Amino acid sequence: LPPTAELQALDAAHHMHPFTHGAGLAEKGARIITSGEGCWLTDSEGHRLLDAMAGLWCVNIGYGRQELVEAAAAQMSELPFYNTFFQTSHVPAIKLAERLASLTPEGLDHVFFASSGSEANDTNLRMVRTYWEMKGEPKRQNVISRWNAYHGSSVGSGSLGGMKGMHAQGGMPIPGIHHIDQPNWWAEGGDMTPEDFGLERARQLEAKIKELGPETVAAFIAEPVQGAGGVIVPPDSYWPEVQRIVDKYGILLIADEVICGFGRTGNWFGSETMGIRPDIMTIAKGLSSGYQPIGGSVVSNEIARVIGGGEFNHGYTYSGHPVACAVALENLRILDEEGIVDRVRDDTGPYLQERFAALTDHPMVGEAKIKGMMGSLALTPDKAARASFAADAGTVGLLCRERCFANDLIMRHVGDRMIVSPPLVISRPEIDTLVERAWKSLDEAMAEAET
Ligand code: PLP
Repeated sequence: LPPTAELQALDAAHHMHPFTHGAGLAEKGARIITSGEGCWLTDSEGHRLLDAMAGLWCVNIGYGRQELVEAAAAQMSELPFYNTFFQTSHVPAIKLAERLASLTPEGLDHVFFASSGSEANDTNLRMVRTYWEMKGEPKRQNVISRWNAYHGSSVGSGSLGGMKGMHAQGGMPIPGIHHIDQPNWWAEGGDMTPEDFGLERARQLEAKIKELGPETVAAFIAEPVQGAGGVIVPPDSYWPEVQRIVDKYGILLIADEVICGFGRTGNWFGSETMGIRPDIMTIAKGLSSGYQPIGGSVVSNEIARVIGGGEFNHGYTYSGHPVACAVALENLRILDEEGIVDRVRDDTGPYLQERFAALTDHPMVGEAKIKGMMGSLALTPDKAARASFAADAGTVGLLCRERCFANDLIMRHVGDRMIVSPPLVISRPEIDTLVERAWKSLDEAMAEAET
């Protein structure tokens, strides 16, 4: 391996990183990850880091699984690429579509493949609008989403998302996309009970539908549990009310399962955990545990029937890429046969939840919210007042993330919320290590914030 400083210099000189400021990178140098095994990463300096983020919420079965390497190699030898355009198909795409149809909730039996969550959400945006056009209701073009949601970085998916920092750059959102508030009780619930607040936030959807005119609304998109927005677990009252409203107005529900899918919340899909009945599910990340770039839209039989009755002028060269499909199939086999989803629901998941909840005893932690194996800590200068570090939002979170890094733990921060989303194969001793290192990092960040 070339010396780290040399790699860092080359990286800073030529490599543009997503969501990273170039100047900071050149000064500090990127941390260069060289290998992974289970829940652990090794960097170019030989540090072993506990990856409490599963990469970017995706390495559900952990690093280093040779079965996936072999599945990729075998498929590359057999047929490295062929497209699925123009009525051609191939075995890996057929098998994966069939497997997904058997795993997803009843009535969602059709898959449109993509290479990422962003692409899949672009598909969804065009598909729901096209669906209503083909149904003879062309006025239904509006799509409703939530502020602070993340649905991807392409122009379509970035518009569906509700990240104001993203909207400020490059001409987003595109027309016809509307946002309502997120159900973040800790930060925005004021004096309301969580349940009343959940209802109030759900009813913003009804108000928005009425404002736009129900006959103009195509769909509502949301994650069952909002991930990149800070792991916002909604109050129990929220989803039943949202489901009632979309049913009442006959609006399509798109559940973005890019993070929640494939075991993250303790069931195969977050929609099951939260008790919702989507018409479309966006999938990516955990579908292949990140070993290959693959995503897709799993759609209802009704949507597939209508779209299939005409021509949907949409597709990607790599829709149903054979190597990605073969790897995803092997990943799903491992998740299933090793009982990994069951463990998140019944065994290591509850253990992580218990240990994670105990972090609320830390003086800087206001709430610890966790569903399955996705959780967040709200950092606060004043627990009782549910105060945020308003003046310099995100600074303490960043400090905390850096202290975690220094303590060989990878956690992410979203503003002043600290996130965990470890590989689903994390063991009890590893969970203990995670929580101990998180506590130590919180202590150090608090001491630093006070000076
Ligand atoms: N949807 C959700 C909920 C996500 O969290 C992400 C990525 O983090 C995406 C969509 C976009 O997926 P990708 O980065 O694969 O394009």
